[in-house]
Amino acid sequence: MSSTTRGLGWLACAALTGGPLVNLSAQSAATDLPQPISELPRFTLRQIVSGSSDPVSRIPGPWLRAARAAQPESLTLARYHKVARLSGVAPLEGSALSSERSQHMMGLYRRTELIQAVHQTMIAIRASLPVEGTRRQFDQLFRPHGEWVVDLHQAVLDWARSRAPGMQWRSAQPALAAVRWLDPYDSLTPEAIPRAVYGLSLLGASDSLGLATVSADMRRADSASAAAVELLLLGYKVSQRWYIDALGFFLTQPWVPDQGREQSLSDFVGDDWRRLIGNEFPEMLRAPEIQVRLFGHPQAVPHYGVPTALFRRLVVVQNRTGRTWLDRHGEAGLLRTLRLLPVGDTSLVVLQAGSQRLRLTTVPRQSRESLNGFLEPSDVIAIEPGYPPLLALGTIVHEWQHLLFRRIQLGRFSSTIASGDLSFVELPGLDPYLAEGFAEWSSERILQRLHARWPLLALGEMEKRAALSSERLEDQHSLGYALVAALAQALGDSARTTRLLLANAESLSGIAAQRELKLAWKPYAWAADQVSAVPARRILIPEVTFSVEDGFPDVITSRIIVPAPRTPR
Ligand SMILES: [Zn+2]
Repeated sequence: MSSTTRGLGWLACAALTGGPLVNLSAQSAATDLPQPISELPRFTLRQIVSGSSDPVSRIPGPWLRAARAAQPESLTLARYHKVARLSGVAPLEGSALSSERSQHMMGLYRRTELIQAVHQTMIAIRASLPVEGTRRQFDQLFRPHGEWVVDLHQAVLDWARSRAPGMQWRSAQPALAAVRWLDPYDSLTPEAIPRAVYGLSLLGASDSLGLATVSADMRRADSASAAAVELLLLGYKVSQRWYIDALGFFLTQPWVPDQGREQSLSDFVGDDWRRLIGNEFPEMLRAPEIQVRLFGHPQAVPHYGVPTALFRRLVVVQNRTGRTWLDRHGEAGLLRTLRLLPVGDTSLVVLQAGSQRLRLTTVPRQSRESLNGFLEPSDVIAIEPGYPPLLALGTIVHEWQHLLFRRIQLGRFSSTIASGDLSFVELPGLDPYLAEGFAEWSSERILQRLHARWPLLALGEMEKRAALSSERLEDQHSLGYALVAALAQALGDSARTTRLLLANAESLSGIAAQRELKLAWKPYAWAADQVSAVPARRILIPEVTFSVEDGFPDVITSRIIVPAPRTPR
């Protein structure tokens, strides 16, 4: 590895060129040539263009009206109230729905009631566990010492007691109160101390110096109580493992007796997708990896991996040692190496090509800056561990729908482009209403039978949708859900709905233009499209050729091929 080349930003060696790239045309040509054995493995990552340059988002009027008529806000609220009642939880009303939703779903607002409801559902689930081995695993995770452990906060206390028998949340109270880390108004509620200690845990994740200062103050004020806080903080770190295992249980273990079989959540998702698209991408139905990420509110995000078909379009193996390297380390190995390429200039650089503006970036930078990552080595769902597992299941299935939809979209896109005459790869877009609407609708459909049996499993998603639809009429989750539900209703077939969405994922207009739908939404034919301004987020990642030594990439050349202007849709 040469530090001189590594130190160069890619802009230094970028060249503006036009037309197709002839020297990158065939993947196999270079590998057939005899090459010295000592040569370093060499690859080219093709230039990537992604994101829309369209300054507006358009929702077809008739579709929007049909969606609003079928899913008024009042219905969303009524469904939330019903699910809450059936779960044994009082629904949040009025402004509390907006202001307390996050803490409520984290078990840190009206904790006693929510955890009681979770216990009841866990008791019901345990009673119906079909297999003795599954019950043993269930008890190890959720009743390790005969008492329920159903969320992160309970797991933390359980772990802390294994280190310091007799440990109580209130052992932490004097130290927290001394540094005013306890809200004096709610210091007597059951959630006050877990909320405060978890707040410290979140502080530590973003500002370790800030946490060190608070800890030192606590030690000075009350060393015994400060030690209890320290132990609980360590518990929050250790118990992240419990959280991943808990979600893993529901994803992979056969805990649901359903239609004469014992099924896991993965079975539910897999069966549904096999029915929708057959065995087109059998590898995609493996459950994604679960990682924890401290968002501080009940949230999860998908990190998109790269389907093999797309990988083969993006990456050109330039020599025989490169082929050998790839055989040994796999596609994921090379994708991990891309993360070690130079991050690029720190200032914002824009390429103005005619009327188009493209932001220049790199794989490591885009991967870090985007909530969804970029060209990730595998599909991952990153989730806030404070979100109780039972409530988070709907969210996990929701994020998994995003991963599956995008994987199929990218897989199909890649198989339609010929590798030979590629100069760069332009990734297909995804309308945000369509993406969110599909994930909401599809996950709800997949979980339908589970929701009928254990309504609490629907509570997290229902409370989210109710809050979002009352806050913002245009929210992508609630409005997107209404749009996709209206589409499914008009088509009367979930497989056709999914196929149509997959084939028209870039814009809603293509769907609304279908003859059958024009007919179904004829009563609203007069309605004008809803047009709103959106920030243009078109990016360009220059082509880069690099060698790999000891797992580290070393840039040989980098260049930009100016894309032809795109005709606006
Ligand atoms: Zn989503």
